[in-house]
Amino acid sequence: GQCVKICPVGALTPNNQVSEAWDAIHDKSKTVVVQIAPAVRVAIGENFGYQPGEVTIGQLVTALRMMGFDKIYDTSFAADFTVIEEGNEFLARLEKGEKLPQFTSCCPAWVKFAEQYYPELLPNISTCRSPQQMFGALCKEKLTKELNISREDLVVVSIMPCTAKKFEASRPEFAADGSRDVDIVLTTQELALMIKERGIDFGQLDVGAFDMPFGFKSGAAVIFGTSGGVSEAVLRYASDTINKEKFTAYKELRVDAGLKIAEVAVGGKTLRLAIVSGLGNARELIKKIRSGEEHFDLVEVMACCGGCVNGGGQPLNNEHITVQARAKGLYDNDVMLQVHSSEENPYLQKMYSDDLDAHKAHKLLHTHYTSRK
Ligand code: SF4
Repeated sequence: GQCVKICPVGALTPNNQVSEAWDAIHDKSKTVVVQIAPAVRVAIGENFGYQPGEVTIGQLVTALRMMGFDKIYDTSFAADFTVIEEGNEFLARLEKGEKLPQFTSCCPAWVKFAEQYYPELLPNISTCRSPQQMFGALCKEKLTKELNISREDLVVVSIMPCTAKKFEASRPEFAADGSRDVDIVLTTQELALMIKERGIDFGQLDVGAFDMPFGFKSGAAVIFGTSGGVSEAVLRYASDTINKEKFTAYKELRVDAGLKIAEVAVGGKTLRLAIVSGLGNARELIKKIRSGEEHFDLVEVMACCGGCVNGGGQPLNNEHITVQARAKGLYDNDVMLQVHSSEENPYLQKMYSDDLDAHKAHKLLHTHYTSRK
């Protein structure tokens, strides 16, 4: 369960899309929307004198509006869909007793690692797209219709804690009619540079509010940004669904190491979960699963130690205490929000009933994997 420090990545990644983002903003024929991943809100402030873990999402929304983005949205909105889709998939597999353990799919570095080294595990990986890609697909589907514009004229930009998200957005599975679901991916640090480039005094900004509907989220979706958060969110949904009872937080899934094994009771069943971060730790765990030494129902894998709060696109400070402070910021943010379970997100409920039949939900919210061995 040791977490080895990740290798540092500079602020500007090679082939970054910063100038592409400015061009899109300045192009009057384009509608440019931006989604912000959960982990960004507890780290970007470190570039502007805030402490690790301080939530500066309100200032960030204002900064993005000043920069000229047309709509400011939250990747967490799509993470609520991920919870429902992944939760339903998990409940179905549990009932049939097949394709267990279910592995999570929201970390593209983990998915690629499995495609490369463990293709036999691919059927066990959730077919759910990551929140970034669910967001892109939902946004292009709904906004192109509402605004009556083409997919090319709607530019979806992501702010991600991560460099692997750039690769994910470029996967051919995530495009339609020659246009990508997510057009531009910027890291936390690339955005911080753009804010400085624009001369914005981040510390002095008023707190802005997200645009709706893609700006609303539950607390379960916000904790996706830390290791253990996805499992906790999925279990909240599963227990709400099975037990029809009031919300349980599942705080026992909060992790402070590269590997956490937990047993939780849901609806008369005891589920065995593993939460692993760091690909070396994942490799060790998979060895034990394959030899039969270990057995799980759900395995959450994040390639970065501690999860996305410690992603390669975040401010470079992967001291354990910093990563912990960022995680705490997300858990505190969950407490502040109006709802804590994904199925209670009213905009999500409305979109499921108005825009998504079973066929469309499958098409926009799921994907498939291919062996790269
Ligand atoms: Fe990206 Fe790391 Fe998060 Fe995986 S764990 S999605 S590589 S930031």
